[in-house]
Amino acid sequence: MAVPQNRVTRSRRNQRRSHDALTAGNPNECSSCGELKRPHHVCPSCGSYSDREVIARADEIDLDDDAA
Ligand SMILES: [Zn+2]
Repeated sequence: MAVPQNRVTRSRRNQRRSHDALTAGNPNECSSCGELKRPHHVCPSCGSYSDREVIARADEIDLDDDAA
């Protein structure tokens, strides 16, 4: 089994981790509803993409129509 030859100091360990931070996303404003959305993705709140393609939202589908 591989064994580290030298101890990595706190300083060196932290220097290595200085590049590990995650960068924030780059949200765009949805052109139809104004919510923040990811660029090049369908808007999760209104389901539109490029002002034309619309996918059905889960809250608009009536799942209880067989119970009536
Ligand atoms: Zn939207």
